[in-house]
Order: sequence, then structure tokens, then C-alpha cells
Amino acid sequence: MERIVVVGASLAGLRACESLRTAGYTGTITLIGAERHEPYDRPPLSKALLKGEWEPERIRLRKPAELAGLDLDMRLGVVATGLDTADRAVTVDSGETLAGDGVIIATGSAPRRLPNQPDFDGVTVLRTLDDSLDLRRRLADAPRVAVIGAGFIGLEVAATASRSGCTVTVLEGAPAPLMRGLGALMGEVVTRVHARHGVDVRCGVQVAGIEGAGGRATGIRLGDGELVPAEVVVMGIGVAPVTQWLDDSGLELRDGVVCTEALRAAPGIYAAGDCARWVNGLFGETGEEMRVEHWTNAAEQGAAAATNLLAELAGAAPTPYAPVPFFWSDQFDSRIQFLGRAHGDDDDVQLVAGEPDGSFVALYGHAGRLRGVLGVNMPRMVMPYRKLLAERAPWELALRHASETQQQI
Ligand SMILES: Cc1cc2nc3c(=O)[nH]c(=O)nc-3n(C[C@H](O)[C@H](O)[C@H](O)COP(=O)(O)OP(=O)(O)OC[C@H]3O[C@@H](n4cnc5c(N)ncnc54)[C@H](O)[C@@H]3O)c2cc1C
Repeated sequence: MERIVVVGASLAGLRACESLRTAGYTGTITLIGAERHEPYDRPPLSKALLKGEWEPERIRLRKPAELAGLDLDMRLGVVATGLDTADRAVTVDSGETLAGDGVIIATGSAPRRLPNQPDFDGVTVLRTLDDSLDLRRRLADAPRVAVIGAGFIGLEVAATASRSGCTVTVLEGAPAPLMRGLGALMGEVVTRVHARHGVDVRCGVQVAGIEGAGGRATGIRLGDGELVPAEVVVMGIGVAPVTQWLDDSGLELRDGVVCTEALRAAPGIYAAGDCARWVNGLFGETGEEMRVEHWTNAAEQGAAAATNLLAELAGAAPTPYAPVPFFWSDQFDSRIQFLGRAHGDDDDVQLVAGEPDGSFVALYGHAGRLRGVLGVNMPRMVMPYRKLLAERAPWELALRHASETQQQI
């Protein structure tokens, strides 16, 4: 074995490289990254870095010496433009072709933008370090901020902008925030957290378009004609997996790179992180196809993809990747944590500890099984459910566990 090519120099890609080295791989690892920065952490981009509490140095994923220790052939500011699947060869924007014994695809996701909108100054998305520093500079003038979309990133930006002294309005088409992630009941709880801090979260509204004057944003026109004034507009309407560069590769692309349970997209080619769609055997009767857009998955999946690629190259059996997904979100003084999967309003949602307007734990059940656990400011009560989720615990057992835990408190 001489070379493995990893495309995407962020969390999943870096974890893949580390896993290759930990497993004893001594060949060349070429890590290709479109951004010029060394791998950094994205969660602080909407939190401490955006608020100005942290500087970029603090969000490096690894110190320079640690990166050097991995002995990577790191190509930053280089964009992969195509993949020859049969030859396991990646073409980059300079025209060079980098062939390997294996390829790991970790190109993440990119923010969606509202289509057909003029390019006014003050209209932005948040994905990269550069986006965050640009937005932070704008928030320093305490502008009026409108956030389109009440997903996690939109709500975190709203909370940080409000804490920075801005007047903030969040505009959401669905009846409640975070509907797709957590269902309506918990969406309403989140709305109240924001309302308590003066953020105007307006649900069930339609955005007609972004308005501007003299090249600068002035606000958002709603479907009913109202203008919500704003000098800064943040589009937080979700992300799409970055797979365009694979269009001619012959890989199956369907809202992500479609992989097996072991993360294999084709012989010698694996995917991990926000861009990977795979079947998680832990859910559903025969597994559930999913793509996860959260930190813990990117880290764990990057490592798993590398391990399975090495197994394939050594002629050994791969290991299915079947984690309990986990994410967190910080909004004002609320740390939201979610373990498992939610299916919006298809789930049974039951509060098992605390109060909805304070700290609490809620269980999500579906088809007689525990599927998810939501906690707000109750980390020590959430994490023990990981074992029950990994065991596909029946709903009744999970409820019993909850009431026994309550008695112990
Ligand atoms: C503002 C923000 C806040 C977040 N907060 C949280 C949080 O609180 N909790 C949580 O669980 N998750 C959070 N996340 C999500 C988490 O950061 C992502 O799930 C994680 O970064 C995904 O890692 P990844 O390596 O798969 O992809 P990414 O981090 O998206 O990295 C992909 C990399 O590939 C590069 N790339 C893309 N195309 C090419 C190409 N053709 N050639 C070369 N390079 C390419 C990109 O430039 C990028 O650097 C947050 C994300 C953002 C943006």
C-alpha cells in the first residue's frame, strides 16, 4: 500500500487520517482541503468565536505539532474536481491527478441559499471561519438582524447576536422551530427560551424576498407585504451535502454519497461525515438510511471509514457503522442535547424529568421502542440513555428506567 487520498480537511477527514495512522498505516496520506485554514472546529463559529469570546487560534482541531506528527501530505486551498472510481484517483483544480489504494470522501455540507435573491451587502450564511469572522465584524455595529430559518444554526446565531446587543428576528415557515429535528412540542419550548431573551421568533411566516437599497440589505419582505427591517440577514435554511464534484464518478448520489452499512461507496472508496448517507442498523426493522449533520457523527464516522477501508485493503471483513447519533446546541443559557433519532411529530414524546420551561428530559418513542432522548441542561440524566438506545430498548422499559432514576434523585 502506498497512498490513501482523503478529500475534505475538516473533522471527518482529520479523524480518518488519525485513525489510519493509529492503525499503523505507514503509506502516504494525502489530505485535500478547499479551505486555506488548517482543520478547525465549526461549533464555536456560531457561539464563542462569533461572540468574540474566542479567537481563531483556539478552534484549531489540532496543534501544529500534532498535525506534523501525522506526517500528512496536506494540500490546503486545493479543490477536488472529480473522482475516477475504478482507478481510485482524485483530480484537483490544478489538473493534477492523485491516485491511491483507497479514497475517503469527507467533503461535508454547504449552506443552502434562498434562490433568486439579489446579492446585497449584509446578506450572509454561516459555515466557515471566514463567514464567522465577517459576521462578527458586522454584529459589532449592533445592527438589526433577521435570521431566515429556525434550525439549530439559525437559532444559535440569533442567540449570539442578541447577546451581542443586536435586535433579532427569526423567520420560520414551519409552525415551530426545529420541527424537523425535535417535533412541535419541543420547538415551542425553544421559542419561549428565545422570547425570554427578547428574540422575536416568528413561525408560520413566508419570506417573499430580501430587500435592499444602495447595494445594502434593508430587510425582509414577508408574504403578507410586511417589511422586517434588518441590516444583516443570515440565511439559516439548512445545508446540502457537497457532492457536485462527484457527479461524473458513477457513485450513487442521493442527498449525499450513498454507502453500505460499512460506509463503502464503491470498492476502495468510503465516505464519512455530513456528506455520507448510509444504513444505520440500529434503527428500524432492517436498518434506517440516514445522513447526519452533527459533530459527533463526523468524528466517529471518519474514524470508522478509515478502519473499514484498511480492513478491505487487507482482505478482512468490515464492521457495520451503527452508532447512537448525538448532538448538542447552545442557545443562551440552555444546552440542548439529543441522543438517538427523532421523527418529528410521528414520535411519542414524554417529559420524564424537570419542567419544560427550565431543565428537563423528554423521551421520544416510536413503534414501541425508545428512539431518542432530549435534555435541556441535564447532561448527567441524558447520557445514561445511550446504553438503552444502543440496546433498542422497548418504550415501556425506557419509561420504567426514567421513573426509577427520578426516585433515586
Ligand atoms: C456554525 C456551525 C455550528 C455548529 N454547531 C454544532 C453543534 O453545536 N453541535 C453539533 O453536533 N454540530 C454542530 N455543527 C455541525 C458540525 O460542525 C458538522 O457536522 C461537522 O463540521 C461536519 O464535519 P465534516 O468533516 O463532515 O464536514 P465539514 O466540516 O463541512 O468539512 C468539509 C470540508 O471539506 C471541504 N471540501 C468540500 N468540497 C471540497 C472539495 N471538492 N475539495 C476539497 N475540499 C472540499 C470543505 O471546504 C470543508 O472544509 C455546527 C456546524 C456549523 C457550521
